[in-house]
Amino acid sequence: MSEEIIMPDFFGDFGGRYVGETLRPALDNLVREFQAAWVDPTFHEELRRINKTWVGRPTPLLYAENSTEALGGARIYIKMEGLAHTGAHKINNAIGQALLAKRMGKRRIIAETGAGQHGLATAAACAKLGIECRVYMGSVDVARQRPNVFAMEMMGAEVVPVESGARTLKDAINAALREWAATFPDTHYLIGSALGPAPFPELARRFQEIVGQETREQMNEAGEEIHAMIACVGGGSNSIGFFAPFIDLPKPRLIGVEAGGRGPGPGENAVRMTGGASRLGIAHGYKTRFLMDDDGQIRETHSISAGLDYPGVGPQLAALGESGRIEFTSATDEETLEALKFFARNEGVMFALESAHAGAVALKVAPTLKRDQAIVINMSGRGDKDLFITAKALDRARWVDFLQSEVQS
Ligand SMILES: *Cc1c(COP(=O)(O)O)cnc(C)c1O
Repeated sequence: MSEEIIMPDFFGDFGGRYVGETLRPALDNLVREFQAAWVDPTFHEELRRINKTWVGRPTPLLYAENSTEALGGARIYIKMEGLAHTGAHKINNAIGQALLAKRMGKRRIIAETGAGQHGLATAAACAKLGIECRVYMGSVDVARQRPNVFAMEMMGAEVVPVESGARTLKDAINAALREWAATFPDTHYLIGSALGPAPFPELARRFQEIVGQETREQMNEAGEEIHAMIACVGGGSNSIGFFAPFIDLPKPRLIGVEAGGRGPGPGENAVRMTGGASRLGIAHGYKTRFLMDDDGQIRETHSISAGLDYPGVGPQLAALGESGRIEFTSATDEETLEALKFFARNEGVMFALESAHAGAVALKVAPTLKRDQAIVINMSGRGDKDLFITAKALDRARWVDFLQSEVQS
């Protein structure tokens, strides 16, 4: 890790820095500071210590024996990233960037959040490191994700409802970028996925790559050669981190799973890499495939999982999809719920709805392979956060009874 690291602005046609003049010095400075930190052993020492004692790394790799038996094909492994602190892989990027911000002497961190998982991870990292934290969140999301707002505020973060546009994630990103242009001398903007203007996609990938590195070591220890790796793709941070150590190799197969939602119609899903509904566009400071209408306006999307409904896709994933190194596919809401039930039943593990999209594709792929082939699913998060959605979808009447009795108590 001692050689100078190169930070690309573009991945093929995708990426770049489409921001106003005022933000250029902030991004230039971020590149320099990150390059210096990454070759500094004390930075990695600190990150290792906090990963071990606070995040809970390494996360386990589970051999899913019962699922393997039930499906009768490939040996199935699950990378249990959902056991990381705050329940998902998001903490890897949050704590990494927060440590970097602290090293840069920043007093404040701002972040955007959709469902609140990235906001929660950032709030936790800021509480741990003693940094002031503000989270921008669309007011529609504030209303429907109250438990996460409550948790962020418990950790000392200020949650600012965003009232512009559709008042969801894309509007929260715009609000955070706008604030940052005015506050960057003392404030770091901690973007929650492998997207946004360079160097953010590269930063997220570097801090998430630990997931792929641990998986490689754990599979080696198990004496397994990996045939395929499967991860869900929202903005793209869990997938790019999981795939990163293998991208430049011819094997294994890398499979990215997008949200197929209720089906193929416009606004019914968040499928950007297959099906021809997305187009090349610029938003949020970078160029990628976005779901847009004929006027170039970003479309609303749908997914049962709150983390997979972002209308764009990280630039490196877009490039690797185009080159064919990553195979893209999708899973519908219904297939996702089936996969959630399958792994809960067979392994005693409840996937996050996002991760259950990867599980759903594993259920299709595993039976087509032989027993001496191994596949690994990245369980990017655990499912407790989704109880309000899954209980309503799977057991509506009794869930509504419960909510009513809560209101009356
Ligand atoms: C946010 C989230 C995702 C989607 O984000 P990526 O940047 O694509 O990883 C996936 N899984 C979980 C559990 C999440 O919280």
